[in-house]
Amino acid sequence: MYTAIGYAAQSATTPLAPVKFERRSPRPDDVAIEILYCGVCHSDIHQARNEWGIAVYPLMPGHEIVGKVTAIGANVSKHKVGDLVGVGCMVDSCRSCDACQANLEQYCLEGPTMTYATPDRVDGSNTMGGYSDSIVVSEHFVVRIPQKLDLASAAPILCAGITTYSPLKHYGVKAGDKVGILGMGGLGHMGIKFAKALGAEVTLFTRSASKAEEARRQGADHVIVSTDAEQMKAAAGHFDFLLDTIPVQHDLNPYLDTLRFDGVHILVGLIEPVDPPMHAGKLVMSRRVLAGSLIGGIAETQEVLDFCAEHDITCDIEMLDIRQINEAYARMIAGDVKYRFVIDMATLKV
Ligand SMILES: [Zn+2]
Ligand SMILES: [Zn+2]
Repeated sequence: MYTAIGYAAQSATTPLAPVKFERRSPRPDDVAIEILYCGVCHSDIHQARNEWGIAVYPLMPGHEIVGKVTAIGANVSKHKVGDLVGVGCMVDSCRSCDACQANLEQYCLEGPTMTYATPDRVDGSNTMGGYSDSIVVSEHFVVRIPQKLDLASAAPILCAGITTYSPLKHYGVKAGDKVGILGMGGLGHMGIKFAKALGAEVTLFTRSASKAEEARRQGADHVIVSTDAEQMKAAAGHFDFLLDTIPVQHDLNPYLDTLRFDGVHILVGLIEPVDPPMHAGKLVMSRRVLAGSLIGGIAETQEVLDFCAEHDITCDIEMLDIRQINEAYARMIAGDVKYRFVIDMATLKV
């Protein structure tokens, strides 16, 4: 064990504050990482405030981690001291169930061990996330950061990136497909870039016409203002895929109408229950599919990092001093960030 530092919430109602805590010494298959950057995800806020009812305190968020390997266990073969590496939303899983065997650890039948606020599978301790100077993680759950990528803007690829890349790949989005991206926050702007890189014709759906120019700058070919019934009607039966990143409840029906037959509407936000109700006829009458998708497996997380390096894709970020983390949360809730805050972990030590 050694003493680490970081920022944690002590309860659902207290702001994040500096803490000292114990990290384990590396086990034989572990990699110890000095954290250089950590992205700030909306899940961090939900968990810090126990909005999903599953928080464990002290709660140290952070699952978009980029850093440098400082030590390895005796059996580690994938990484060596000095390597630039990343850790995303998961740090372990059962490794033997059908999902794990299929490299889909995020759907582990026993439930994956998340990067924070989940009991460690070996010693039962509460996992502590990336708002910290360091982390110790089994090598299987550590990915390599391609040299070409800027380290800070690579961090959000580990959650925002893989969350949008995985479903586009799974459903086979290809050149010429018509893809609609719903919402342009941290996830949506990555969705635009990936769909574009896969060769699709990309349309952003947004509530505000003021986002049109910015959407085009991000690579969107077209913009539909979703509050304009005429524009929505004009898009009827048009899309092969919709990637829905809207994080709050919204009416799915008008969007389903914009799908062609066999079209797929993919949810990546946890908006339950769907409200207002969805009309089954909008699926049945055109064999449309309403689907969901959660992050991606470890192999695919490596794949998306390599894909980003190959296609010069990065996340647009605003660098954050960790001492401003609580103000950053307030700004994120107000939608005032383009598009991801990334903590510069050097600010933890000043
Ligand atoms: Zn996340
Ligand atoms: Zn499993």
